[in-house]
Amino acid sequence: MSAEADRISYLQALGIDVWRERGSAEPPPGEEPPARISDVPLMNWEQLQHKVATCTDCGLHKSRTQTVFGVGDPHADWLIIGEAPGQQEDQRGEPFVGRAGQLLDQMLLAVGLTRQTVFIANVLKCRPPNNRDPAKGEAAACRVHLERQIELIQPRLVLAVGRIAAQMLLESDAPLGRLRGRLHYLKDETLPLVVTYHPAYLLRSPSQKGKAWQDLCLARRVAAEQHA
Ligand code: SF4
Repeated sequence: MSAEADRISYLQALGIDVWRERGSAEPPPGEEPPARISDVPLMNWEQLQHKVATCTDCGLHKSRTQTVFGVGDPHADWLIIGEAPGQQEDQRGEPFVGRAGQLLDQMLLAVGLTRQTVFIANVLKCRPPNNRDPAKGEAAACRVHLERQIELIQPRLVLAVGRIAAQMLLESDAPLGRLRGRLHYLKDETLPLVVTYHPAYLLRSPSQKGKAWQDLCLARRVAAEQHA
């Protein structure tokens, strides 16, 4: 409960009438304020976490176990973005867990990073049933959350992991093979983005790990140039 709600509750317990400013956004004591999508661009980190955790802005809220906001350093230089939570992520509330998550951890270690020194998130915060591809409407509904995360983290580089994440972020239908291996930009050409393979794909196709390594080296070089 907020300090203002505490104060009102205390005064009411003393039998003192509490006058509220007309149109005040403060809800009655004990009630959570409804989080509105139009408020998201002004939210701080904690408000955004709460908004996502209670979000019902698309149909995916009906089948999720929990939302998956992301993990890591909210001031990280690297922002890793995947597609959406899978079954294990939905259960654990953390992105990229299981074998694919372990491989992602190894990929990060190879360029001197860890899960704690980057921030890892997904485009969608709720699991699509049966791990189907997210619908365009679901991605559109959730995009505001990721955009606010990017605003608050202010990363130097985005690493888009997997075809769906890359296509959604770049609003492109191009196959991953054409999106990886070169530099893209978000946010009016100010935020560099590198595309690489999803670790789940690399587990199925280990021969592609060399290309993923090239992508990581490109990302590392670009991030270092942002520091220069
Ligand atoms: Fe809200 Fe995003 Fe979850 Fe849809 S996927 S309910 S928009 S948090």
